[in-house]
Amino acid sequence: MDNPQLKKAPLVYDVAIVGSGAGGGMAAYMLAKAGAKVVLLEAGGYYDPADPKYITQMKWPWESPRRGAATEFRSGGDFDAAWGGWAIDGEPYSSKDGTEFHWFRSRMLGGRTNHWGRISLRFGPDDFRRKSMTGVGEDWPIGYDDIKPFYDRVDKLIGVFGSVENFPNEPDGIFLPPPKPRLHELMIRKGATSIGIPVIPSRLSILTKPVNNERGQCFYCRQCNRGCQAYADFSSSSVLCIPAVKTGNVTLINGAMAREVLTDPQTGLATGVSYVDTRTLQEITVRAKAVMLGASACESARILLNSKSSRFPNGLANSSGVVGKYLNDSTGASRSAFVPALMDRKRYNEDGVGGMHVFTPWWLDNSKLDFPRGYHIEYGGGMGMPGYGFGGGIEAMHRLVPGRDGKMKQPGGYGAGFKDDQRRFYGAYISMSGRGEPVPLESNYCEIDPDKVDKYGIPVLRFRYKWSDYEVKQAKHMQDTFEEIIHAMGGIALGPKPGPDDAHGYGLAAPGRIIHEVGTVRMGNDPKTSALNKYQQAHEVKNLFVVDAAPFPSQGDKNVTWTILASAMRTSEYFIEQVKQKSL
Ligand SMILES: Cc1cc2nc3c(=O)[nH]c(=O)nc-3n(C[C@H](O)[C@H](O)[C@H](O)COP(=O)(O)OP(=O)(O)OC[C@H]3O[C@@H](n4cnc5c(N)ncnc54)[C@H](O)[C@@H]3O)c2cc1C
Ligand code: SF4
Repeated sequence: MDNPQLKKAPLVYDVAIVGSGAGGGMAAYMLAKAGAKVVLLEAGGYYDPADPKYITQMKWPWESPRRGAATEFRSGGDFDAAWGGWAIDGEPYSSKDGTEFHWFRSRMLGGRTNHWGRISLRFGPDDFRRKSMTGVGEDWPIGYDDIKPFYDRVDKLIGVFGSVENFPNEPDGIFLPPPKPRLHELMIRKGATSIGIPVIPSRLSILTKPVNNERGQCFYCRQCNRGCQAYADFSSSSVLCIPAVKTGNVTLINGAMAREVLTDPQTGLATGVSYVDTRTLQEITVRAKAVMLGASACESARILLNSKSSRFPNGLANSSGVVGKYLNDSTGASRSAFVPALMDRKRYNEDGVGGMHVFTPWWLDNSKLDFPRGYHIEYGGGMGMPGYGFGGGIEAMHRLVPGRDGKMKQPGGYGAGFKDDQRRFYGAYISMSGRGEPVPLESNYCEIDPDKVDKYGIPVLRFRYKWSDYEVKQAKHMQDTFEEIIHAMGGIALGPKPGPDDAHGYGLAAPGRIIHEVGTVRMGNDPKTSALNKYQQAHEVKNLFVVDAAPFPSQGDKNVTWTILASAMRTSEYFIEQVKQKSL
């Protein structure tokens, strides 16, 4: 929009940041600490995990009318901290060419970091140069050495537990002590390592020791997805946004749904952001000397594509035409198993942290396999507090082993027999999920849907995404590995082994389901093939930056958020340096 007739906020801020998740939260924190006057626009409401009005941690299932069950617009259920999920009322998205993409969004201060899994892995040196190594995909314009100092600082600022292992492509961090493995995890480790698959302590951003006076230490309630009132796990709300606001340098505006970045038609520079106030539906402009987008990978692409003007007819920072393209999410496939040795256990509290205590990093050499990228394995199991829909079909478990009287029973049951089944089998099953790296493709993208707007009148995204054979072959390998581990630990795999026709091939989850979208505003050295330079600064608009995962040319076989935090910190430092040098 060239000359919007909008209500204008009076002040010109140093920086307008859109979105308060991992990327936007880190940028707000860094810039506020450096003394910049920041306006932080967040589409969702205010949220503080320590405020009693939001606390769901330690509540019993019967304290929710639905026992915590999910609803269409609260897909994690009443207790989960996500205000949103796979669908948001009045904010649709679409897909084309018969393809599928699932988009998880949380509308709240801190975004999806309030209820994420806290798996906090660094990308390794090879993850930045996959094209050079394999001929497919794209290299990053930076290497591990460029980002390592920022990973180190994020480790110290936020806190992450783990163990030093010296794996070549799974860099160690500055770790707090990891929690001990629980019984099912010891059994997984024993089984997997006996067949040459490593199982090491997980790396989660949860404080097993205090890191400062503002945040408490984990007391092992296993409910990180509900948000931690002690601030002992990492959420952008508690660890970055609230401290940033406390500096006095951040004006936080909740309920501010950004529509587009505004630019000066003469200079082409960003001049601010126009947003819709989600309560009054009024359109408001904030003015700023620089803009940073951290609305999440797809949403930042959407904002740029919607920021059309006579100077930028293709959307902002998009002369290359790459904005929206190369969308890629982690692959995912799972299997679960019943483990007779875990049956008939004495009850005791084995809650631990709100996530797995062990995991398997990628351990093989892709040059010897028929797919070019690796995956890691996340494990589940144990005796957590039962919630709505718990148990995963316990009433059918007794078809797998004889009853106490040595006789086999028919599936189903009620009364005393059913209760006995719960006692015998609860906590006797495990699950494993592969999370892998896909090859980013130009043909997987999001674009503006020409026919749909959301309830604020903002054009919405339309997705096109199809897995390639690489990912299907990787999922097949995951399934073979899962069965080997299950057999090695004396388990009984549940359900039939997924084959080529199951889900997207060998149980491969639909694109988007693993919630690690990246790549939609990719960075690179060549403005013809990338939208941003290596500092995540738009090639064409020097006061415009993107600080979420949109700039990442690829995923790594790791979860992405630790890299979002490190790269947002790096971009913020670069910005501060540029301002000091008067280059911005
Ligand atoms: C259940 C779950 C488990 C996960 N587990 C892990 C894990 O273990 N490890 C890992 O690395 N990652 C995990 N993730 C992914 C992780 O949550 C994301 O990578 C991370 O939150 C992305 O940060 P972000 O800043 O890009 O976006 P978000 O966290 O999504 O934040 C974006 C923010 O921008 C706001 N916003 C969006 N559009 C607009 C707009 N137009 N105007 C203003 N504000 C806007 C949103 O309301 C939101 O607050 C998980 C995600 C989920 C849902
Ligand atoms: S497991 Fe620890 S960090 Fe997670 S919510 Fe409970 S106390 Fe907080």
